[in-house]
Amino acid sequence: MPFLLEHDERHCRSPPIMNILPGMLLKAKIGEMFVDIQAIRRIVADSDNIVFFGGAGTSTESGIPDFRSAGGLYNTEIGGFSPEEMLSRDFFLRHTPLFYQFYLKHMIYKDVRPNAAHRALAELERQGKLKAVITQNIDGLHQMAGSKEVLELHGSVHRNYCMKCGKFFDLDYVLAFENSVPTCDRCEGIVKPDVVLYQEPLDHEIMRKARDYIARADVLIVAGTSLSVYPAAGLVQYYNGNNMILINQSPTPYDGAAHFVLRESIGKVMQSLI
Ligand code: ZN
Repeated sequence: MPFLLEHDERHCRSPPIMNILPGMLLKAKIGEMFVDIQAIRRIVADSDNIVFFGGAGTSTESGIPDFRSAGGLYNTEIGGFSPEEMLSRDFFLRHTPLFYQFYLKHMIYKDVRPNAAHRALAELERQGKLKAVITQNIDGLHQMAGSKEVLELHGSVHRNYCMKCGKFFDLDYVLAFENSVPTCDRCEGIVKPDVVLYQEPLDHEIMRKARDYIARADVLIVAGTSLSVYPAAGLVQYYNGNNMILINQSPTPYDGAAHFVLRESIGKVMQSLI
């Protein structure tokens, strides 16, 4: 039976918490959180087959904004183009300089560092408890924290390749071109980030591995994702176990399917589990 830490809005149209002062609510939440975290700690302690599936919220505590949250970049129009247009394959091919202007300004956060969540996940993997991190993020922070098995559904800003000869380049190579289009030092071809743009399919092999890890997982921790972007969001449906832990600031379509729902800092929760 699902144990919800927060009032489940879908089952009650008139929220009864209206008369509770913010301070009282906070206390109640902390009290419940404490009790519940013990249960989750036990589940994590007993498992050696944990899989983590994370989205943008996993990196916001490192200072990378969640573009899809309210008021985020995806809700604004820039230069007459929406961010979805500018991050599409067509736009990359037709307006490469403008793509790079936008991409470097809004998608690259060069000096970010892993936060408590990234570090805790790397530690759980070292302990042999966590099998894989599946991420929708392109920032490479899991690897920076020491995670080894990281499935990047949307690619990585740290890998870039020549569209002509296939040679790979790191992020520094791309940044050295400043605001001009990076080109290959071998054949002068245009260098493209190894990031899945709109209109581009996800990598089949990565998706297959992600499905397999989730289907076999004993504990699935889903964090920092609204679970609204397909096909990545559909991955959660492959989970067969009884311990889905969902950590997200706002409700998701899968709250009812989760066994624990936490509206908490991902870093705080993950740190408390190691
Ligand atoms: Zn080349």
